[in-house]
Amino acid sequence: MTSAFRATGIGYFVEAYSYLALVKDKVPETEFGTAAPSSQPTLCPICGGTPVSDFRKNDCLILKCTTCGGKTTAGTFGTEHLNATYDDDYFFGGGAGYENYLEEAELLRQQGVRYADVLEKYLPQGRLLDVGCAAGFLQAGFEERGWSTTGLEPNASMVSHAQEKLGLHVVQGSLESVGELPPFDAVCLIQVIGHFHNLTQAMQSVSELTREDGLCLIEYWRMDSWVAKMFGKNWHDYSPPSVLHWFSRSSLDELMQNHGFAPVTGGIPKKYISAGHAASLAEHALQSTPLPGFLTKPLRISPKTLKLRYPAFDLEWRLYRRTRSA
Ligand SMILES: [Zn+2]
Repeated sequence: MTSAFRATGIGYFVEAYSYLALVKDKVPETEFGTAAPSSQPTLCPICGGTPVSDFRKNDCLILKCTTCGGKTTAGTFGTEHLNATYDDDYFFGGGAGYENYLEEAELLRQQGVRYADVLEKYLPQGRLLDVGCAAGFLQAGFEERGWSTTGLEPNASMVSHAQEKLGLHVVQGSLESVGELPPFDAVCLIQVIGHFHNLTQAMQSVSELTREDGLCLIEYWRMDSWVAKMFGKNWHDYSPPSVLHWFSRSSLDELMQNHGFAPVTGGIPKKYISAGHAASLAEHALQSTPLPGFLTKPLRISPKTLKLRYPAFDLEWRLYRRTRSA
C-alpha cells in the first residue's frame, strides 16, 4: 500500500446501498416466455437463436434467447444511442456514471498494468487496441509496460484528454463505424461489450482487428453470477438503454467462438474505485431510499487518495485467442 489504502468494508457498504436502491426500483410486470413481437429482433445476436420476452426495465423490453440464454434489448439502436449514452454527463454528471472520471486516473492506470501482466503470459508486448478507452488511463498502463497502444473512444472530451494530456494515440469513433486499421496483437474490451448498439457488426470488427493467434481480453458483468441471480431483474447491470446485451460465461464464449475466437483463461478482476466515485454512486442510490444522505459523508470527507476495493462478485475477465477468420 502506498498513499492510498484499502477499505474493503466501506466498499461492501457502498455496494449494499446501491443494491438497496435498485431493489426499490419499480419494475413493471410483463408477460414471460411469450414470442417477441415482429418489430423486435427475430434472431439472437449471439447465436442466431430465437429470443422471447423476458421482462421490462426502464421502459425497455429485455429478450432472452431460448438457445444460448443470452439477453438483449428489443428494438434498433444507432449512433445516436452511442452519442447520448456517452456524452460528457456520463463522465462528469455523477449519478450512475462518474462525478469526475478524471479522478479515476491512477486506479485505471494500475488496472492497465495488471491486465498487461495477464496478456504477457501468452504474448510478448506488441500492438494493442483499447476499445472504449475514455481518457486513456487504462491505455497508459499498457504503454507503461511497453505496449504500443491505440484507443478507440466516441466521446470527444475524453479523446482530447487522452491525446493532449497523456499524448496517447486515440481514434474517435466506435467499433461499429471504425474504418480500416492494421490488425492488432491484442484487443481489449473492458466493460464495453454490453453497450454495442450493433453487436454483430462490432464483433466482426473485433475479429478483423485482431491478428491471427492474437488475443482479445473482455471484462464484463456476468449474468449467471450468484449476485445477478439473487437480484433478478433488479440486478444493477440490467440498465437499458445504456446497456443493451447481457452474457453468461457460456453465451460469451459462444459469441466469441462464432467470431473466430477460442477461450484461453479467465479470472476475477481486482477492482478499485475512488472514494469520490463511491460517494457519488451511494448518493445516487440513496435518492430512492428513505435512508438519510449523511451516511455518505465519511466518503465525502475521505482523502482523494482513498481507494475502495469494489466487491465485484458479478464481474470477470475472459481471455480469447483468435484461431480463424470469422
Ligand atoms: Zn442466443
